[in-house]
Amino acid sequence: MNLIVQKYGGTSLATPDLIKRAAWRVIACKKQGYDVIAVVSAMGNTTDELIDLARKITPNPGGRELDMLLSSGERISMALLSMAINSMGFNAVSLTGSQSGIITDTVHTKARIKEIKAQRVLEELAKGKIVIVAGFQGVSLEREITTLGRGGSDTTAVALAYALKANVCEILTDVDGVYTADPRVVPEARKLDVISYEEMLELASSGARVLNSRSVEFAKQHGVVIHVRSSFNDNIGTIIKEEDESMEEILVRGVTYDTNEAKVTIRGVPDRPGIAAKIFGKLAQANVNVDMIIQNVSDSGVTDMSFTVPDSELKTALECGRQLRDEIDFKDIVADEDIAKVSIVGTGMRTHSGVAASMFEALAKNNINIEMISTSEIKISCVVRRSRAEEAVKALHKAFELG
Ligand code: ADP
Ligand code: ASP
Ligand code: MG
Repeated sequence: MNLIVQKYGGTSLATPDLIKRAAWRVIACKKQGYDVIAVVSAMGNTTDELIDLARKITPNPGGRELDMLLSSGERISMALLSMAINSMGFNAVSLTGSQSGIITDTVHTKARIKEIKAQRVLEELAKGKIVIVAGFQGVSLEREITTLGRGGSDTTAVALAYALKANVCEILTDVDGVYTADPRVVPEARKLDVISYEEMLELASSGARVLNSRSVEFAKQHGVVIHVRSSFNDNIGTIIKEEDESMEEILVRGVTYDTNEAKVTIRGVPDRPGIAAKIFGKLAQANVNVDMIIQNVSDSGVTDMSFTVPDSELKTALECGRQLRDEIDFKDIVADEDIAKVSIVGTGMRTHSGVAASMFEALAKNNINIEMISTSEIKISCVVRRSRAEEAVKALHKAFELG
């Protein structure tokens, strides 16, 4: 089977005209002799609007009902795109995540794909139909509708490309590919022709929203080649694949920032074995994703501990803190939402020293204060004030001569 999976993002489907344009693009692919699966996101800002709508009803809508609501956004797109293709004389059928056999766990609003039973999709393809799949959603073994977390349609596309052994998984979006930094923030940013899974994973998980990080993780695990390109032109975009000799070891491949994290500090924590295990065990139980962690030197047996969590999980994290009060005697717990994480990523860091120093120097020159630092083998991240984030990205892009 010669199969292509194409994923159309929300901006590429924002209006009826854009949906018709996407329909032509899907048909063009079919005309080239491929079987085509088109995975769709919700139109424009639909998902944000649905979240706002729920919040107008209650501040705590609950994961199950929120998933019922949010999954409807992608159903609108899938039906409209399918109608458009059918009206143009080709045969399409739309399927929900559940109908497409996307089986997940039941962690509502950020479910993980467990298995893909794509029998129905295969049957429709065998009938010669173009299959339109609602992205971002699945069904759990308990038969609950789930969603895969923001940007989750990318993961749907990669997972289907893997399950059905597609030739390639195309992510069609509103920029020409993956750039050295968000081209909307840094106009001099350069498009990358190719990037390794490893670097893309670090970029995606530190804020480059052009690809959802779970989709890259999935692609890396299963060797799915991703082609990120524009839905508005035919230019070749960026290929994401396993690292090979043709990819130079670049010191810094890209700069990203993330303004969706908050910092939590627990002050006056007793400094003894088992305390960190208790705190982070509690957070893990509540499915809170902790990112950076720092613990200060202890002074007379007590210390302060800070960590960052996604904004959307701050409430849960603070609730965990309150519950911990019964078990641990700490002074207080405070949240700071006014932060951003700025990161540089590159495999060349493995073999070169002094990269961190250059990063700190570039921030210092711009009078940007660093509040937290974390490093991995190929990434360095700094927490700064949120209002300084874009400035920091521009400064780093320039300092590492990425333009
Ligand atoms: P879609 O609706 O197609 O899923 P997204 O808005 O999720 O699109 O992702 C595309 C956006 O990602 C671009 O418009 C761009 O502003 C942003 N972006 C952030 N970092 C990068 C980067 N390094 N390269 C390309 N785009 C980036
Ligand atoms: N519509 C969802 C979101 O806005 C999923 C996606 O676009 O990939 O996050
Ligand atoms: Mg996206």
